[in-house]
Amino acid sequence: MIRTRRDLLRSGAGGLAALALPGVSGWAADAKLRDDPFTLGVASGFPTLRSIALWTRLAPQPDAPGGGLGNAVIPVTWIVAEDERFRRIVATGTEYATPDWAHSIHAEPWSLEPAREYWYRFEAAGHRSPKGRFRTAPAPASQTASLSAAVVCCQHYEHGHYAAYRHIAGNTPDVVLHLGDYIYESNPAASPVRALGLAEAYTLDDYRRRYAAYKRDASLQAAHAAAAWLLVWDDHEVDNDYAGEYTEDGQDPEYFLARRAAAYRAYYEHMPLPRRAVPYGPMMRMHAQHAYGDLAAFSLLDQRQFRSREACATPWRGGGRVLTDCAEIDAPERTMLGATQEGWLAAQFGASAQRWNFIAQGTVMADVDQKPGPGRGVWTDGWTGYPAARRRLMESIGTTRLANPVVLSGDLHAFGVAELRADPRDPATPLVAPEFVTTSISSTSLAQPLLDSWVKESPELAMLDGRERGYVRLDITPARLDVAHVAVRDIRDPRSPVAVTRRYGVEAGSPRVHRA
Ligand code: FE
Ligand code: CA
Repeated sequence: MIRTRRDLLRSGAGGLAALALPGVSGWAADAKLRDDPFTLGVASGFPTLRSIALWTRLAPQPDAPGGGLGNAVIPVTWIVAEDERFRRIVATGTEYATPDWAHSIHAEPWSLEPAREYWYRFEAAGHRSPKGRFRTAPAPASQTASLSAAVVCCQHYEHGHYAAYRHIAGNTPDVVLHLGDYIYESNPAASPVRALGLAEAYTLDDYRRRYAAYKRDASLQAAHAAAAWLLVWDDHEVDNDYAGEYTEDGQDPEYFLARRAAAYRAYYEHMPLPRRAVPYGPMMRMHAQHAYGDLAAFSLLDQRQFRSREACATPWRGGGRVLTDCAEIDAPERTMLGATQEGWLAAQFGASAQRWNFIAQGTVMADVDQKPGPGRGVWTDGWTGYPAARRRLMESIGTTRLANPVVLSGDLHAFGVAELRADPRDPATPLVAPEFVTTSISSTSLAQPLLDSWVKESPELAMLDGRERGYVRLDITPARLDVAHVAVRDIRDPRSPVAVTRRYGVEAGSPRVHRA
């Protein structure tokens, strides 16, 4: 049945009446909410020359199912201005917050100027949202002198506070790049620093509640308001170590795809994503490329949705394991990105006119040997478990003569630095790209002696440090990439200070990493 907006508004009004929200009368279009619906903050993401994705979600009671809005349909006005006080408004429009998308708003102004700073906010039901800031991207051919980025991942709410995000918000980088594990679907085994009190997420409502709980963090909201974000996901937005339609505990793929559809939908509902990413059931287009003038391009890769199942899985045991004897790992058809995304990526590489080309994705690409002494211990969930896929990626970088490739990854909950070779087992093959692994914002890590033992066994790895929580800061200029490890002093303190613990540099024209 085709429903008109009038019908939608009418049913929305019915929902409101049924809930008897205080202060609400008549159609939702005229609704005045007693409580502030902007409890989850605002966000912007995926800037282009002329556009940006602006996000908010109305949730006057963020812990309640539906955010406390029932079936109401509520118009939301978005406003973009050239100045922080909203005196020079350059774009405005209305979107409808509907229950089927958890009253989330995704607005895309289309008439902005390149390389400009803007402010935005929303208005709905008699309330005004906090304001946010972003910069549009410079035009591809325009000379761009510098770009700053904060690279983040792995923010288990219950493992610690988001002091790192307070500092990112204070430093207003040009872009925040999130490499996955925005939420964790389950709870920690050890006693939490701050408990959520939610059961493991399986249903759409479960995931929505989890995002609402994470999104109430003031530091996370501040980091979203301070800059445009680029995001990719990893596994915990859905389920630990999932691979395509397969889970670590061998759930029926048909059942798991229903869970994945719920998780992807909730992810879309809570992220500043453009409409190209609207999920269709368990499918969602995440891979994208974003360029900043002639200086930098970010290839944002989805290495979960299309990957082969982890090698040597059994019907009841998938997911990541350390294996010493599994011939399937080397099977040439195994894929991390899927054939479509691999082909797309090669085309992006071939067309790139940027000085620096960042390959941003969730899991560690360096060849890590986890078995001390003779023999190899291979972690089957990372790129080590997909060597043919890594080889094809390295070949693609080589054949397209991609300028200054840099791999950015997360997942390990440790700072890491590596120099990747065409063939990691053959030191005679050329160095291809440096890799910088960002540590977790808050998630706990493995024991340092274990990480030290891996570094000893793995020629590509220069260092791993799992003792520090924080983020990687990138300062990109035409001649040089500067990389800083920014570490939080006390993860139990939401106002903890941070300190730069290490600095590295990469000179344009060479894949070598220099300790600064
Ligand atoms: Fe993680
Ligand atoms: Ca070994």
